[in-house]
Amino acid sequence: MNEENIINCKIVLLGETSVGKTSIISRYVHNTFDPNSLTTTGASYAYKIIYLEQYNKSIKFEIWDTAGQERYRALTKIFYKNASIAILCYDITKLDTFYEIKNYWFNQVKDNSPNDIIIAIAANKSDLYEIEQVNEEEARNYAKNVGAIFFTTSAMNSSGIEELFKAVGSKFIDPNFCYEDDCDDDKKVNNQNNNNENNDNNSQNENDNNYNNNFKLSNDKNINLKKKKKCCNI
Ligand code: GDP
Ligand code: MG
Repeated sequence: MNEENIINCKIVLLGETSVGKTSIISRYVHNTFDPNSLTTTGASYAYKIIYLEQYNKSIKFEIWDTAGQERYRALTKIFYKNASIAILCYDITKLDTFYEIKNYWFNQVKDNSPNDIIIAIAANKSDLYEIEQVNEEEARNYAKNVGAIFFTTSAMNSSGIEELFKAVGSKFIDPNFCYEDDCDDDKKVNNQNNNNENNDNNSQNENDNNYNNNFKLSNDKNINLKKKKKCCNI
């Protein structure tokens, strides 16, 4: 695949400190998880290239992590600039992290990003469901009302992570894209999940200023999210 055929796509992850933003990126890009990870201390950028088989297109996700500025509400406009996708993350065990999405982060994205930005909500730490504080149904309904893609995720056990990024990538390529969780029962896409994770992505963390083009095309065959003309939610 010629590099010219790869579509660049900037993704920003937002949400309160400790909800798992950095962990989601680590899981997705490096397939690693650090249970003792400390709050991010430097601006961080990572990328991953995926191939979306049903569109015969490759996307280079340029994933931006905060450097902890979210704690002080100090993210600059540069962070949001040119973002195609915003993933708003909350921790299912901390109710306030969900309310901060509703009351703060969603508006921040709307106010600082391009109008057509794709917004997704990641209900993270789903492995801790036994101490869940946020009602999932309420969160799903909220996402639906604001036109956001919704996934429960766990950076710890990987649940929902690949699916989340595939869904936002598909929506980026095809505005009419619909995924199973997002549709009314009678509109559901037949999602044939082959669970055949087969990534040979070459990815690495980099400093924003130190970006180099030495990457290799991913051959991600695990695309099972199908295209649909109309969708109730997005
Ligand atoms: P950030 O401040 O939003 O970037 O959050 P971090 O990625 O630094 O994660 C904060 C803490 O939550 C760390 O101790 C992580 O190990 C932990 N964590 C992140 N994601 C998960 C998850 O899905 N499940 C569990 N159990 N812990 C998580
Ligand atoms: Mg972080």
